[in-house]
Amino acid sequence: MAVDTPATIAIVGAGPIGIEAALYARFLGYSVLLFDKGGAAEHVRRWGHVQLFTPFSMNSSPLGIAALSAQDDDFQPPPPDAQLTGAQWATEYLLPLAHSDLVGDSLREHCEVLSITRPDFLKGECIGDEARGEDEFRVLYVDGDGREHVELVDVVIDASGVFSNPNNCGPGGGLALGERALAERIRRDLPDVLGADRSTYEGRRTLVIGNGYSAATTVAALAELKHQCPAMQIHWVTRGSSQTPLERIPADRLPARDALAERVNRIVDGAEPMAQWLPECELEQILEVDGALEVRLTNGQTIVVDEIVANVGYHVDGQITRELQVQTCYATEGPLQLAASLLASDGSDCLDQQAHGVETLCHPEPNFYVLGAKSYGRNSQFLFQVGLQQIKELFALIGDRAALDLYATAPTP
Ligand SMILES: Cc1cc2nc3c(=O)[nH]c(=O)nc-3n(C[C@H](O)[C@H](O)[C@H](O)COP(=O)(O)OP(=O)(O)OC[C@H]3O[C@@H](n4cnc5c(N)ncnc54)[C@H](O)[C@@H]3O)c2cc1C
Repeated sequence: MAVDTPATIAIVGAGPIGIEAALYARFLGYSVLLFDKGGAAEHVRRWGHVQLFTPFSMNSSPLGIAALSAQDDDFQPPPPDAQLTGAQWATEYLLPLAHSDLVGDSLREHCEVLSITRPDFLKGECIGDEARGEDEFRVLYVDGDGREHVELVDVVIDASGVFSNPNNCGPGGGLALGERALAERIRRDLPDVLGADRSTYEGRRTLVIGNGYSAATTVAALAELKHQCPAMQIHWVTRGSSQTPLERIPADRLPARDALAERVNRIVDGAEPMAQWLPECELEQILEVDGALEVRLTNGQTIVVDEIVANVGYHVDGQITRELQVQTCYATEGPLQLAASLLASDGSDCLDQQAHGVETLCHPEPNFYVLGAKSYGRNSQFLFQVGLQQIKELFALIGDRAALDLYATAPTP
């Protein structure tokens, strides 16, 4: 639905996509409220020690570079082929952009959005009717001091990601027995094994769960630590029945990603592997015995460890928009049309993912959109460059100018 300026756009989440969407909107003259429950780029900073697979050219936009260059003559972006860590991405690009002249005024850090509604319509009223769009959205948020506020806005972009909502460890994505009671003992993000969290893992027994790149990153770091501290034990549980814990992508175009897959597969290989790989099983039960964790697996095996790291993916939290007419996929929890389009495409390499057309971002709720990692739901293949494509298409729709592309017309510094 086209929305003319002046209009106010609320963006939930000042992650990479929320920041870029805010910048795009400000360039077009919209007024923007950019909320983050933490600081800007909060999620990225939480995995700040991890190196990105994609080079800086794929982690920045021409508009972002132009804005930072216009503001500061001395701004030097990282080289296009730089392989940054999450922390470097944040400090060298995302945070300067979030605090730039154009975006900074809109940014509300430590402000968590709790609910977004149409004050004059209940969820079940005027189903899929554009009349709902004549009413503003009511955004209720709580600031860092615990005070609640309300803003009325014309458009909502939910770019709140999924990183805050990790999945359970048990069979079929359910809870393992004892998991709830021992939740404090399970690390669900990516620990900085070789840095800030080193003392937690040094010399100890660790179980890693998951068969994606996050679990592989954790196992690779633990194995590196084990080189210095051979008494350590590493166990790695994966569900799949593949020949190796992580399947390599043939002729991978991202060398850093391929190097990780190659490295972790070697870690579990050979007569004396650095890590014990336990394929085709899940966690049935976790018990605390004398301070250690006794883990019973679905294959009947029991292992005893000191630490558990569960890198088993994330799900969507739809709580804040539950009173809106949001259409999500029953399998991925992403927007239904986008999920269908993703499921129909060959999903073996996230580099092949493109934006799937602006219609896939639309919901029955007029002027409500989900962008960024959250738009992919449980599908972990989202890449920043897909988000930029989403932003471009969305603002062409909102501005009712099909050819609008600020990335193509941004001045080159
Ligand atoms: C370990 C790891 C490595 C990755 N490597 C790459 C890579 O190499 N290349 C690549 O393109 N992508 C990579 N990704 C994917 C990456 O997550 C995305 O590209 C990018 O971070 C997505 O940005 P986003 O803005 O959609 O979401 P996020 O980065 O998740 O940001 C969402 C923001 O919303 C905020 N928020 C959540 N709920 C609320 C609320 N209720 N109110 C207010 N604020 C809220 C959060 O605090 C957060 O700041 C990687 C992801 C991980 C986990």
